[in-house]
Amino acid sequence: MMSKLLVNEVFWSLQGEGFFSGRPAVFIRLQGCSVGCHYCDTKYAQKCSPQEKYTQSQALFHKKPGTSSYFEVESTWLAEEVYKRTKPNILAVITGGEPCSQNIATLIKRLEHFGFQVQIETSGTEIICCSKKTWITLSPKAKPVLAENWQKASEIKLPVLSEEDLSRYESSLSQIPQEKICLQPVSCDPKATALCVKVCQQKNWRLSVQIHKYIGIL
Ligand code: SF4
Repeated sequence: MMSKLLVNEVFWSLQGEGFFSGRPAVFIRLQGCSVGCHYCDTKYAQKCSPQEKYTQSQALFHKKPGTSSYFEVESTWLAEEVYKRTKPNILAVITGGEPCSQNIATLIKRLEHFGFQVQIETSGTEIICCSKKTWITLSPKAKPVLAENWQKASEIKLPVLSEEDLSRYESSLSQIPQEKICLQPVSCDPKATALCVKVCQQKNWRLSVQIHKYIGIL
């Protein structure tokens, strides 16, 4: 059965955040998100406006990064094209937008079949469909996380701008093993960074800084 996906961009870089920080990765950014975070740095991937949709699949690999046009492509085709263009054994990051608002099961299955370690970056607001091998990075955002997703996550990467972000999730985080939790200052903000450093030391959590922003890569 055909399984189509709306995809904003595919690009090769290093994973700049969370557990896999520093690891070479191919990023598959899906289109569409209704969570609506004010600090979202991928606003161009939020809306699915029909006039921005293209069906010339190959053009996906040549589009200008960070723009709101997107492509409707077939999942199996996408996995094969990524595999053809990629060195073996790198990380494949399915991100967004909110990737779990689309049916990503076939894409994950095919990528894992080709030997990729697949990572999903999700806000946890939708049901997460993946395999047992898939690494789930749950990053709580502006809408509540589905209760089942807290335990399903391989890691929790919490964006922090102020104390409020920490207190909002205090009770959920208290149920999670400490080695799974990292704090990430929003937009490299210096005050948020200082707060995250302090709390990570107190709680024995990890710090995630967006290294791609510090070194100026995508
Ligand atoms: S969940 Fe992610 S993609 Fe969606 S609005 Fe928030 S930061 Fe942006």
